[in-house]
Amino acid sequence: MKLTAELVPSTVWFSSLYRLLPREVWNRLREDIIRENGRKCQICGETEGTMNLHERWHYDDLTNVQKLEGFILLCRMCHNVKHIGLTGILADEGKLDYNEVIRHFCKVNNCSEKEFEEHVNNAFIVWKKRSQRQWTQDFGEYEKYLKK
Ligand SMILES: [Zn+2]
Repeated sequence: MKLTAELVPSTVWFSSLYRLLPREVWNRLREDIIRENGRKCQICGETEGTMNLHERWHYDDLTNVQKLEGFILLCRMCHNVKHIGLTGILADEGKLDYNEVIRHFCKVNNCSEKEFEEHVNNAFIVWKKRSQRQWTQDFGEYEKYLKK
């Protein structure tokens, strides 16, 4: 699947690079990536609207190390899929249309609504397991941004 949900374990919710960096450093990072990549979603190719910088984390379930592998520029809808847990909460509050998110997922992945549901259910199973552990964070080459 081109577009997947990636639920961040609750034990590291508040220690993403986005949370840890001063806003101006984060914005500079985002601008650098827009300059390199062009202003378009790196998953679906959308060029309209806000582009979100998304952190790509790798989880090693044997060593409990969460490593920042890089970033990806995402349109609003692809970003909503990535953070499907939060998206569900916002939809319940009437702040976004969950059906629109499902349609986007199915269009990008060329799949059925049932496949969306299975994918999200699996993502939540993994999330529950990972949320029971403490993770050691490795910011990789991005560690330098934290020291500025
Ligand atoms: Zn997109």
